[in-house]
Amino acid sequence: MIKDKIKNLDLSATLKINEISKNLEKKGKEIIKFGFGQSPFPVPDKVVEELKKNAHQKSYLPIQGLYELREAIAKYESKNKNKNILTDQIIVGPGSKELMFLLHISFDGDIIIPAPSWVSYQPQSVIAQNRFHWIETKAENNWYPTRKNIENLVLKNKNKNYLLILNSPNNPSGQVCNNLKEISEIVKKYKIIILSDEIYSELTFYEKYESIFNYCPDKVIVSNGLSKWCGAGGWRLGYFVIPKELNHLKDSIKVLASETFSSVSSPIQYAAISAFKNDHSDYVLKSKNILKGVGEYVYQNLKSNNVLINKPMGGFYLMPEFLNKKFKTSSEMCADLLNKKCVAILPGSDFGFLDEKMIARISYTDFDGYNFMSKINSDTNIDEDLIKKFAPKIVEGTKRLKDWVEKV
Ligand code: GLU
Repeated sequence: MIKDKIKNLDLSATLKINEISKNLEKKGKEIIKFGFGQSPFPVPDKVVEELKKNAHQKSYLPIQGLYELREAIAKYESKNKNKNILTDQIIVGPGSKELMFLLHISFDGDIIIPAPSWVSYQPQSVIAQNRFHWIETKAENNWYPTRKNIENLVLKNKNKNYLLILNSPNNPSGQVCNNLKEISEIVKKYKIIILSDEIYSELTFYEKYESIFNYCPDKVIVSNGLSKWCGAGGWRLGYFVIPKELNHLKDSIKVLASETFSSVSSPIQYAAISAFKNDHSDYVLKSKNILKGVGEYVYQNLKSNNVLINKPMGGFYLMPEFLNKKFKTSSEMCADLLNKKCVAILPGSDFGFLDEKMIARISYTDFDGYNFMSKINSDTNIDEDLIKKFAPKIVEGTKRLKDWVEKV
């Protein structure tokens, strides 16, 4: 009774590894949870307070989102992008994932997905019955597509509409896109729009975050939410900024929203106002300081002649390639690691790499962020002693990975 296309889908890899890891833990195994990508930090106190105060909010809110929340998001985005973004350009959803899904459903054209990319873009395009194209990328290009990569694909049929998905800082590579300008030139030339997934933008470690929106604002839908920088993944609140030029897409997503989730949970929307309105820079700086230090620790200790990794630049992932591991598929490789060392990581094949590439994603978030954050300042040097003290499972996980790599 199930459609063929749907029958072939599996549980989303990220959520599945989370459940597998937790079930193994319940059975008494000491699992290092490097699989699921969830912020280790608590939701800021002020935001939690607002949720408590608004628990009584019970009415359905506007389909597009609570006006005051959209206003706060528009101001936050205007400040970040140094551009006037209007309240009406914002649409709020139960996680940006759901809004992306509705965009896939609405969009009439082909989807361009750089490999590697987050696990759900491609299955969403399958469900929405859109044609999708992976674009292979390289470590030396920061794991992002070049102008040429995109143009070669589009030139095969330049009359089509294309939706290019861009995610920086990137899940799974941990890299930041530094060829935005050349990508924007191609986008302006053809019938391409961009979904700029900026969910990790606040967690950019080194430079100030740069968005493709600033290069071609009328062709970019910005996606963001509370899940990563605000530690509130389980609250399920995301939003899109849709340019006036793409109003028809916004209207269509709004219709689909009204026919599916209706509107996002009221207490969550009221609480989210304070996430966007108040200054949380101390919280964000501390989060970044810790993630940068922990990412650097795993990177420095794991990279070798046999393990190639690009240095993490933002977010909370890094993506090693194991040159000395020979399995049929990267899934088999990750299963071997889980079996032998109780370390859960995700195979590169979940992110668009060929099965035989021995690439995987590590989410370096298995530590108590509340405790770590309460003991440091935003400029504390996150050295090995601090990591040993506040992130012992990161140290243990890295050690187990190294042992496993050395035993070929
Ligand atoms: N984005 C997170 C990850 O890649 C988890 C959330 C999700 O995939 O829905 O692990």
